[in-house]
Amino acid sequence: MLKLIKNGEVFAPEPLGRKDILIVGDRIASIRDAIDPNPGMGLELDVIDASGKWVFPGFIDGHVHLTGGGGEASFRSRTPEIVLSSLIRGGVTTVIGCLGTDCITRTPEALYAKAKGLEEEGITTYLFTGAYRIPIPTLTGSPMKDILLIDKVVGAGEVAISDHRSSQPSLDELKRLAADIRVGAILSGKAGVLNIHLGDGPDGLRLLRELVATTEIPYSQFLPTHINRSERLMEEGIAYAKLGGFIDLTCCEAEYQEDGDITAAEGLKRCLEAGVPAHRITFTSDAQGSLPIFNERRECIRMGVGSVAALFDSVREAVLQQGVPLEQALAVITRNPAEIYKLKGKGRLQESLDADLVLVDRDSFGIRTVIARGRVMMHDGDPTARGTFEG
Ligand code: ZN
Repeated sequence: MLKLIKNGEVFAPEPLGRKDILIVGDRIASIRDAIDPNPGMGLELDVIDASGKWVFPGFIDGHVHLTGGGGEASFRSRTPEIVLSSLIRGGVTTVIGCLGTDCITRTPEALYAKAKGLEEEGITTYLFTGAYRIPIPTLTGSPMKDILLIDKVVGAGEVAISDHRSSQPSLDELKRLAADIRVGAILSGKAGVLNIHLGDGPDGLRLLRELVATTEIPYSQFLPTHINRSERLMEEGIAYAKLGGFIDLTCCEAEYQEDGDITAAEGLKRCLEAGVPAHRITFTSDAQGSLPIFNERRECIRMGVGSVAALFDSVREAVLQQGVPLEQALAVITRNPAEIYKLKGKGRLQESLDADLVLVDRDSFGIRTVIARGRVMMHDGDPTARGTFEG
């Protein structure tokens, strides 16, 4: 019930210095310079020594194919569902699930059930209604109703543009969808973000730019993703973000990167150097999506699966290899997505907010301990919580 995280160097994500953090139930009760581990009154504190560690807010991954994705190289290339320990090992305590290319054998209902299951197993989950195609598949028959009536739905997507796998949506179709989502969001007090998948087609962000220019719908209603997929899109994304847009960079593990790829870490540094306000940038992992590996003749030789581990790996790379300040690198997987998606109680370490914390070893930069809604899910590098079918 009561836990004390002692002597950690706290980033909330802004640096707070060395602090003790008291957790009561599933909330942060107090953050002070020093909290007595013997409170008296017969109360016992479970003390976790965080000496030599950073204490961060639990990570938020805003784009994960929880029920699996892929399938783009026939049925056998459909990727598996995610399991709890993958999320925990990656420090992810809040996740937004989504559907992608396949909206026939993958459904919003299955995604909803998976999100509910992961929540029962201890983390916090949300989802997008929809998938790549417009009209989007929904739970209730209407995007507006999904956002307005279903608590878990915080937006719609990932809707594909500039991609051979998209439904080739017209500007008017995209406008109508954005308008429905906006009204659902206003009526429910949610963010109602339209998550837009960018392919590598020559049109890039054109449809989105025109949508914002020709309607009253504000930039805050959209979060285009995979902006770091090409040099050209990266430049377009930076220009879009400087005008007021929000952008998401996709993290990818080193083994799946190809020559010339812009890593999320590199993309973040370029955005900051170009003058993009730091709060407009997020990272996501696109985990459980399929990652084909090609040989030098561009033949697919193996299918891999994206992992949420890429999320914090990219933050580490941003700090250690790109020289991005820790606070700014951390914000792209904590405070920024919490604000963009209006995730209550998430993304920051502050009294009365949810007790989602990640303890990271300062020497190795490795995730050691993960706490989700007050429960220790991983301690000293070993998951202490497992998914229902993980044994
Ligand atoms: Zn995508």
